[in-house]
Amino acid sequence: MIKPLLVSAALLCSLQAGADAIRQTKGDFEDKFRQLDEVLPTPNVYRNAAGEPGHQYWQQQVDYKIQARLLEEKRRLEASQTVHYRNNSPDTLRYLWLQLDQNIFKSDSMAELTTAFAGIGRRGPATEAGDGKKPAKLSMDELRRQQFMADHQLGYDIKDVRDGTGKPLKVTIVGTNMRIDLNQPLKPGQSTEFSLNYAYNIVEENAVSARGGYEHFPKDARAGGNDIFQLAQWFPRLHAYTDYEAWTNKEFLGRGEFTLEFGNYDVELTVPADHIVAATGSLQNAEKVLTREQRKRLKEAEKAKRPVFVVTEAEALENEKEGTNAVKTWRFKADNVRDFAWASSRKFMWDAKGYQQGGDTQPLVMAMSFYPKEGGDLWKKYSTEAVVHTMQVYSRFSFDYPYPVAQSVNGPVGGMEYPMITFNGPRTTLQDDGSRTYSQAEKRFLIGVVIHEVGHIYFPMLVNSDERQWTWMDEGLNSFLDGVAGREWDSDMPWGIEPSEIVDYMVSSTQVPIMTQSDSVLRLGPNAYTKPAAALTILRETILGRELFDFAFKEYARRWQYKRPTPADFFRTMEEASGVDLDWFWRGWFYSTDHVDISLDKVYKLRLDTENPDIDFARDKAQDLDKPMSMSLENNRKQGIREWRELNQDLRDFYDENDRWTVTNKERNKYNKFIKGLEDWERAALERAVQEDKNYYVLEFSNLGGLVMPIILKLDYADGSSETMRIPAEIWRRSPKEVKKLIVTDKGKELTQVELDPRWETADADIENNFYPRRIVPSRVEAYKSEKSKAKIHRDIMQDIKTELKNDDDKDNKQ
Ligand SMILES: [Zn+2]
Repeated sequence: MIKPLLVSAALLCSLQAGADAIRQTKGDFEDKFRQLDEVLPTPNVYRNAAGEPGHQYWQQQVDYKIQARLLEEKRRLEASQTVHYRNNSPDTLRYLWLQLDQNIFKSDSMAELTTAFAGIGRRGPATEAGDGKKPAKLSMDELRRQQFMADHQLGYDIKDVRDGTGKPLKVTIVGTNMRIDLNQPLKPGQSTEFSLNYAYNIVEENAVSARGGYEHFPKDARAGGNDIFQLAQWFPRLHAYTDYEAWTNKEFLGRGEFTLEFGNYDVELTVPADHIVAATGSLQNAEKVLTREQRKRLKEAEKAKRPVFVVTEAEALENEKEGTNAVKTWRFKADNVRDFAWASSRKFMWDAKGYQQGGDTQPLVMAMSFYPKEGGDLWKKYSTEAVVHTMQVYSRFSFDYPYPVAQSVNGPVGGMEYPMITFNGPRTTLQDDGSRTYSQAEKRFLIGVVIHEVGHIYFPMLVNSDERQWTWMDEGLNSFLDGVAGREWDSDMPWGIEPSEIVDYMVSSTQVPIMTQSDSVLRLGPNAYTKPAAALTILRETILGRELFDFAFKEYARRWQYKRPTPADFFRTMEEASGVDLDWFWRGWFYSTDHVDISLDKVYKLRLDTENPDIDFARDKAQDLDKPMSMSLENNRKQGIREWRELNQDLRDFYDENDRWTVTNKERNKYNKFIKGLEDWERAALERAVQEDKNYYVLEFSNLGGLVMPIILKLDYADGSSETMRIPAEIWRRSPKEVKKLIVTDKGKELTQVELDPRWETADADIENNFYPRRIVPSRVEAYKSEKSKAKIHRDIMQDIKTELKNDDDKDNKQ
């Protein structure tokens, strides 16, 4: 219930004006709306104040020619490469920096030496730092890793670094980086060429948890088993040279990914002749590596409704029974890509389906999947379809998919992305009856990971953000979009992407702002994936609305396709293109660890004091008589105690007939004088207000979480109707901790209940203080030993459904 409160007409006006100034204590005020310009880098000719590439924007061009040979038995890669480097910068370069990612596996690498015991994993947040109270334990995984590292010589073996004329070049290796000193300074606009030979032993992915490697299948029919090879970060790649950081040669520690240059690739991969190869780029010599039948199927797939097998399961099974000493060379070309990855195995079946995208850029894209029998129906049904779905959704938010292929490859890597090719981990389980089943969680994982990794072909493979520095720029934007694609695939699937699902993280103490360099982030998953994704969902659905958001986001993608955006370019573009000041939003969500918790503390009902004694006195009386009878009086009545005035009626006087609310002409004259004294407009306003007799409500809010956000209200009325009111976050601009808001409703429209953020769209951490009046908190008493509902999706219902119902007489039940 909402308590009425009387105020005079004059007070009603001053109340609003005064609200802004409330609780502004000196020294304690933080301007949540302070503009970001003082934090963002100064705009310049390379990136302008609108968040666009500036009129002198430049980036380097690096083209590679590589010949690589996969030595299957040795699990070793040997290669030679020629690099063509064009200096588009305004600077003269005397040396070049390359990334030697395989050196991360050297026993004396910075990554190895600085990985804290039981600390945060090299790749992701596998384990969080413990609480220090439990005794140290060595996991089986860690033992396996230690043994693998001890048994293998890892890291690059680099030879013959020469310039274009064949002269040796001086190189200096610094951890995972290599500097090549040029024989002549490379002036702006000039190109240079150099070549090198290299080799390394491939890591076993499951032993070391890398971003590529091999997986061994000892149970395959072939003696000694088979492997799947996923080769990534496998060749010495140029570090980016940029306008904002010069060489981006920060040591590779495993987590902060890569910053790369665009270029053209011509790659020859020599592998066992019975292997199937998937790679970045389009295959140049299909007639040499594929059978006539396979080429025919590939052609058929271009217009197929469902994926067509280029290599069938039966053929793959036949293939994996034997091996060969013969080799074949697969040649791929890829234009305007920032990296190159590939996979090779005799275990692969291969399906393909043409995505008829239309348009001028790339009307036909071949969506393809490569997987072993272990992938089962999960892969046959959904992998390639999910690749197509991703392009359909992502292109709506950005640009047409510009490459000829988009691929999903199953192997040991749970999820990794490269231009045109992705590595995805989920599989089926072989049951005793020979069938392959999977849980709903595995299904969600497959569809989700394919969407996510293929989505990365857009961000950051095309919108080329600096992954080493800012994980959120690719993971956050991509997680936001994979959420859009997930909902549009099957909204019943629990994707875990709604803003309300980030709340637990946002109130936790183990967090740093999203704007933190990748290797220093605590809890990478929620920090760089889920929180920015939730923030962008809120920006789209709640703050800007779809029309403004989608326009601005697409503009960002368009501006920076094939280019190198920084966070400031994203923040500025979203603001410039939407026309809405979002500095408070970036500050709160990206630069702070505040959370959202707005509390609706009180609702007052104000009543207009008409000054007319004939109206106001009667109202006062009604309100006074509305009080409950005191206990003493009630008990007196129950006991039949009669009052003196009742028993002595002959002594009544004037005041027994007139009470303190009796109006006399003295008050009426005063009122008439008051009315006469008013200016014309004042009198008109008062008369109209009395006539209309509206309801005036003042709602008091406090901001407990610190993050300023819009106030979204559901107002319920006594007549059964209800309406939603959306107040922009700017209401907090002068008083970020507490605000009051006046709501005026028509006569008869009595407010009965108010609810804040009724659709849980703002990630408000405590919804119980969102109700006025407060509601009874719904909670569940969980029966002892009952299953946690969260685990339900992880059941392999496909297998469990075969379980026979046991009855009490069953023997095995009595054991
Ligand atoms: Zn990702």
